[in-house]
Amino acid sequence: MEPKGQEILIRALELNGTGKRVLNAMKKVPRHLFVPEDMQSVAYADTPLPIGHDQTISAPHMVAIMCDLLEITEGMTILEIGSGSGYNAAVMAELVGKNGNIYTIERIPELAELARSNLERAGYSNVTVIHDDGSCGLPEHAPYERITVTSAAPEVPQPLREQLANNGIMVVPVGTRHQNLVIVRKDNEGNINYRTWGEVIFVPLIGKYGF
Ligand code: SAM
Repeated sequence: MEPKGQEILIRALELNGTGKRVLNAMKKVPRHLFVPEDMQSVAYADTPLPIGHDQTISAPHMVAIMCDLLEITEGMTILEIGSGSGYNAAVMAELVGKNGNIYTIERIPELAELARSNLERAGYSNVTVIHDDGSCGLPEHAPYERITVTSAAPEVPQPLREQLANNGIMVVPVGTRHQNLVIVRKDNEGNINYRTWGEVIFVPLIGKYGF
């Protein structure tokens, strides 16, 4: 464990403008439990790290930005596409608390298993990891108050737009070489509004509504 590394990271995120609730959630999640054995010394570095199968655990500042944009409150039901290590799901689990639910979908079976065991080891029981093509969403538990996509799509996937609840927010990186983080908001009548946050770099969303 590297508590000092975590302290420095949290301070840096605070200086970056990360919101209080997200900072507190990230303080509680032991990132080293979501990082491979041979990367423990850099577990709290603000950088993406390899987790196998050509995939990464996202950089902490990106997790913080996406969670802030989602305006997550207690008790929400959230869908994540791209479980990877399970770290982002753990941060969101802290934000929704015991009465909330996180569903997270991963297309690579070994990573779905990794996320499941990391989350269990870290003590998160309100996260369900599903092995499937997340570009189609998860209709059986829809609608979702928040949806977060942690890989880049060619466009905002249609099923995810449909599975977003009224008054819901989705964040999704869109594009190929130049990706933009798109914020999708649905109003209380179901009308959709799009806004872009800025440029980001993510691995591609592979699937029916992905690449
Ligand atoms: N959220 C993760 C974390 O906290 O460690 C990091 C996610 S990583 C940047 C992107 C993940 O999206 C990869 O694990 C990749 O396999 C997954 N992915 C790509 N296309 C997918 C799809 N159609 N459905 C589900 N997962 C997908």
